[in-house]
Amino acid sequence: MSDCIFCKMASGEIKPDVVYEADTVLAFRDINPQAPTHVLVIPKRHIPTLNDVEPNDRELIGDLYLVAQEVARREGIAESGYRTVFNCRGDGGQEVYHLHLHVLGGRRMQWPPG
Ligand code: 5GP
Ligand code: ZN
Repeated sequence: MSDCIFCKMASGEIKPDVVYEADTVLAFRDINPQAPTHVLVIPKRHIPTLNDVEPNDRELIGDLYLVAQEVARREGIAESGYRTVFNCRGDGGQEVYHLHLHVLGGRRMQWPPG
């Protein structure tokens, strides 16, 4: 997707503040952090939303969570706790239509979310 900002980050055309990189996954700091730690974990391949995930993507989705776990360790929030979120489409609050897992921590999260 040539006009997708997260695809440009995955390809290296735009350089975000990367905290972890693997073959198929990239994790970088959110430009508008909502918590002391706010990292986005994305598949390098363009998948628009959670609705577009297919059975063949099982391993990739698992990898997103394993990277989230590693990011939490590196950020020092694994023990204090953190939240992982996929926002999906309008009512879910999704603004960038390239799948991304939010990793938020370093403060107490509220429930229910707004
Ligand atoms: P969504 O609302 O789609 O779940 O989350 C999109 C996230 O991407 C937002 O938290 C927003 O701050 C972040 N974001 C949007 N544009 C950029 C960008 O150019 N760079 C980075 N690092 N984050 C971005
Ligand atoms: Zn994309």
